[in-house]
Amino acid sequence: MPELPEVETVVRGLRPKLEGRVLAEVEQRCESLRFPLPEGFARRLRGRRVLRIDRRAKYILARLDGGEVLLCHLGMSGRMVVTDARDRPLDKHDHVVFTTATGEQIRFNDARRFGVMDLVDEGRLWQHRLLRDLGPEPLGNAFNGPALAAALSGRRTPIKTALLDQRVVAGLGNIYACEALYAAGLSPRRQAYTVQGRRAERLAAAIRDVLGRAIEAGGSSLRDYVQADGELGYFQHHWAVYDRAGEPCPDCDCAPPGGGGIRRTVQSNRSTCYCPRRQR
Ligand SMILES: [Zn+2]
Repeated sequence: MPELPEVETVVRGLRPKLEGRVLAEVEQRCESLRFPLPEGFARRLRGRRVLRIDRRAKYILARLDGGEVLLCHLGMSGRMVVTDARDRPLDKHDHVVFTTATGEQIRFNDARRFGVMDLVDEGRLWQHRLLRDLGPEPLGNAFNGPALAAALSGRRTPIKTALLDQRVVAGLGNIYACEALYAAGLSPRRQAYTVQGRRAERLAAAIRDVLGRAIEAGGSSLRDYVQADGELGYFQHHWAVYDRAGEPCPDCDCAPPGGGGIRRTVQSNRSTCYCPRRQR
């Protein structure tokens, strides 16, 4: 599932392809993704110029010259593939195809169809049901130790579960919640309300750091954020704890056998990986 760093690299890859360009042709090849596509979707997009592409949490926002915004979420399996070979055969999961006036195509491919596309009036964008309850951007200025401490105060739930609540911090997914808790040395089982003061400072800094480093790694491993096959973004990672249960802990010298090393548990139906020795 694409996490925030992938979405950010997709946004950075889309900018040079779409910003300032006119959508000469838009082909809608299915009725619905996670939700039905809006009425007249392709027709409303056709001929519009893309002014700017931004990200909010894991939503991609393309502002159009007609005053509408194309809102897009990659869901579980959504991919943006760019090609200038318009005769390249379409895949059966290419659900929306954008062709710019300069002849490039962006194909939205989504095998599992948990993705979202919607068209929203710019003036009502932040009231959209998918956006209105989102907390601060983890890489934005409003997110810091005191803000995180305030959002966690009074919460009697494990910190790992609280971090996945999009009202606490927007766009943080399961993998980076695990990585940030590990980097901050905080147990995923710790009660959220106890993360105050210096602990909250440490955790907010760790969240920024793990996300920032992943985005940087994505940028430096790709040319213009495009993979060789035309897919935007990247999906190669080096995680410290995620998906590493049973492996030695990279930071302390604990290792299996003998009770050490990275462990896996399940919290709120999501897998959590952590080092019980390093994280308290
Ligand atoms: Zn360890």
